[in-house]
Amino acid sequence: MNKHQLHIIAGPCSAENREQVVSTAAQLKAIGIDTFRAGLWKSRSRWGTFEGRGEDALPWLKEVQQMEMKVMTEVALPQHVEAVLKAGLDALWIGARTVVNPFMMEELGSALQGVEIPVYVKNPVCPDLDLWQGGIDRLRHHDIKDIRSIYRGFSVVDSTPYRNAPLWSFLQRFKAEHPDIPMYFDPSHISGKRALITDLCSKALSYPIDGLMIESHVCPDCALSDAAQQLTPHDLKAVLDGLEVTMSVE
Ligand code: PEP
Ligand code: MN
Repeated sequence: MNKHQLHIIAGPCSAENREQVVSTAAQLKAIGIDTFRAGLWKSRSRWGTFEGRGEDALPWLKEVQQMEMKVMTEVALPQHVEAVLKAGLDALWIGARTVVNPFMMEELGSALQGVEIPVYVKNPVCPDLDLWQGGIDRLRHHDIKDIRSIYRGFSVVDSTPYRNAPLWSFLQRFKAEHPDIPMYFDPSHISGKRALITDLCSKALSYPIDGLMIESHVCPDCALSDAAQQLTPHDLKAVLDGLEVTMSVE
């Protein structure tokens, strides 16, 4: 079997506290991960649930950068972009609930005008490739140089057994139309359950993907958001080894 060389992004759904961020990052670095993700502003469906630590968590991410890891977070508003660029994070992503809104993509494009750090764009929550395409076009119009895509499945009426239906033909179509845009696969938000992650990644490896974004937490069951889908760094390593994935460094 051929080895698959992929860029792996891993880290918790949310930055919860300094200890959780730094210990998760240290364990991920120990297994060879070079790019750390953690959400600061969480766009939650239900009011009254954990909405992230916001800017207060930026110093924890700066500490992870000092561990010689690249660090990225999600932006959904121009003020998030301003804070992330000012802090000097290495990359950012735009989430599925934001990509559905062309006005927001335009606002984010203006805030990001001309940036050279990678901007990852998740597919929108609904299965509409035009919205994804339109969002990317809006960013391109603002001269954003390094645009990448993240495939995280779609909300459909029945996505059983997944949280978000993988609709593989959409991945294939998007990649065929955009061979130049690196494609990352996010099994965490597709599965919603850690037990399904290996099989999803295995299937994804039969498509032309360039990387994986996987949620990882030192104590998944203690996580304040997306607890059921996160893997410990140890279990993440077992998944990657089982799939014969080798990690490429950015
Ligand atoms: C996330 O990556 O934690 C997230 C909220 O993802 P999505 O936008 O894919 O739902
Ligand atoms: Mn999440």
